Amino acid sequence: MAAATAAALIELRDLRKDYGGQDGSPAVQVLRGVDLQIRQGEFVAIVGASGSGKSTLMNILGCLDRPSAGQYLFNGSDVAAFDADRLAWLRREAFGFVFQGYHLIPTESACENVELPAIYAGLPEPQRRQRAAALLARLGLAQRLDNRPHQLSGGQQQRVSIARALMNGGRIILADEPTGALDSQSGAEVMQLFHELADAGHTIILITHDREVAAQARRVIEVRDGSIIGDSGAAPDAPAQAMPDLREAAASQPPARRWRDELREAARAAWRVMWVNRFRTALTLLGIVIGVASVIVMMAIGLGTRQQVVAQLGRFGSNLMYMAAIGESSRIPGRSITLQDLEAVADLPNITHVLPNVTGNKVVRHGNQDIQTYVRGTGAGLPEVQTWPLARGAFFTAEDERELASVAVLGYRLARELMPEVPDPVGQMVLIGNSPFQVIGVMSEKGALSGDRDEDNLLLMPFSTAGAKVFGQREPTYTVMAVADVGRIQDTQQQLEALLLERHGIRDFSIGNAAASIAAEASTRDTMTMMLSLVAAVSLLVGGIGVMNVMLMTVRERTREIGIRLATGARQRDILRQFLTEAVLVTLVGGAAGVGLGVAVGLALMAAGVPLIFSLTAMLAAFGCAVLTGLLFGYMPARRAARLDPVVALSTA
Ligand code: ADP
Ligand code: MG
Repeated sequence: MAAATAAALIELRDLRKDYGGQDGSPAVQVLRGVDLQIRQGEFVAIVGASGSGKSTLMNILGCLDRPSAGQYLFNGSDVAAFDADRLAWLRREAFGFVFQGYHLIPTESACENVELPAIYAGLPEPQRRQRAAALLARLGLAQRLDNRPHQLSGGQQQRVSIARALMNGGRIILADEPTGALDSQSGAEVMQLFHELADAGHTIILITHDREVAAQARRVIEVRDGSIIGDSGAAPDAPAQAMPDLREAAASQPPARRWRDELREAARAAWRVMWVNRFRTALTLLGIVIGVASVIVMMAIGLGTRQQVVAQLGRFGSNLMYMAAIGESSRIPGRSITLQDLEAVADLPNITHVLPNVTGNKVVRHGNQDIQTYVRGTGAGLPEVQTWPLARGAFFTAEDERELASVAVLGYRLARELMPEVPDPVGQMVLIGNSPFQVIGVMSEKGALSGDRDEDNLLLMPFSTAGAKVFGQREPTYTVMAVADVGRIQDTQQQLEALLLERHGIRDFSIGNAAASIAAEASTRDTMTMMLSLVAAVSLLVGGIGVMNVMLMTVRERTREIGIRLATGARQRDILRQFLTEAVLVTLVGGAAGVGLGVAVGLALMAAGVPLIFSLTAMLAAFGCAVLTGLLFGYMPARRAARLDPVVALSTA
């Protein structure tokens, strides 16, 4: 009896609660100076007409709401000084709530609803399940563990909520009209339960408008218009069973929970909610899936085309410049590009090779075989400049050029067609017109690379020989120049133009390079890739906004659930974590599906011949972006949810 008389468990001093008043509306005084002491182990009924302020009083007693004025001492300490975590601790460890409307979480089973307070108290899962099952069995619901609330009758739901109130010990049970929604039989059963709990030493505060129900308590307090107008006083027979010292417990911090358990719990709850709302979740996911997939596919296409351009650059020789005379002057000897011009060109910096070319179609004869072919007189540097190796023999040398040697190198196809039965054409003689030429080499097959087999139907000989003996022309038809540094090719081309302009006085030549045209094409493709990527990024953003929208809706829809969680002892960060986990889980699933879809679409495009290169970086980035958007857009609604006042959240429809 000493513990009971020492200090009241709950003491209210001149407690007041007003509503309104700030926004111009007249303030409503709901509680007008309540003084009340409740000792440990009491079974109290608070009775009064509807609207007299009973629920308001209970919400304040249970720390779901704060008074406007006056003091609330719990075990001697002023509750007003408690921070949010401490209040959560109090709700979790000291109180157990039973509401008229049951307030069960609709997406969770009976057993999971009962387990809820223990989750926030950090009880490991096996013990939690076992205890919840035992409590439900004690209340006659052993067969109903896995039923969702909507599958239970009102009486059964109320028993589930009583089991939940007892889960963490239920030292103080606060019951607001617990029988209000029940038929008389179920109501009587619930009252019987309260009697048993009172006998077991639980402190019970029962709120009712029904005098008959109130009369069953050991102490009856009557309220009217926010004031206590009657109190039967503490029953003389104080509780037989001592309760653990709450004062000591209240001073300690909540137990540290393992983050892995917390995360698993949050993920499980999040998954449940996603599954229950799977249609809506799927629609949200669609936005993210499309966003991620399009980012991946666009990047792959961009990379693929870029690679193709690079390959083209390699094939066509990005280090080459071409120059030819144009217009009137090209037909006037001495006014076209001359060998003296070329000597000056060779002295320009960055130019490594200058190949003058003179070309034309001629008939080539071997034995009695005549073939029309493309004859090209060129420089000794050709195999190196055009990276075109020989298949047999050797290429002609600078000395051959100087001496106007009558030597020829055959293209791969020409060699085969001109002398099909000769195993090695090297050493054979061919005739062009009446001039004999000795075959000294055969080029490797070039058409196999470019797809143009005509490239192999040609005959190469020294530029000087071709000019003198085949074409009767001293000036090159066109000139190929190789540069050392491709990065400076544009500068070199400008220098070349300036040089020729100085020598000729007029622009009677044209100069070009493969790199310029390929680079131009590459840049248009780059622009296209960038635009496509932008579209992809925008769709990812739209997906993120979808997540935010759903999160906002979810929070609004589930405000009452948040209230229930807060009432059972969830801290703000538990709520925040849960909603964030949901957002991240949605985006994780969406992101993974997006990567899958992106790869599938990419593979299909590849099969259709679109050049495509998957980039792991792009996949990770798109996936990461999706999850980040989820976090970002999920955070604000989640924070809003976490900061809700329990009583506000609970009273939402
Ligand atoms: P009871 O539970 O005894 O029926 P309540 O405590 O629910 O009474 O309400 C008491 C009075 O306070 C009622 O007149 C009600 O209209 C008013 N009230 C309750 N909550 C609010 C609120 N959030 N804003 C304004 N008035 C409120
Ligand atoms: Mg009420």
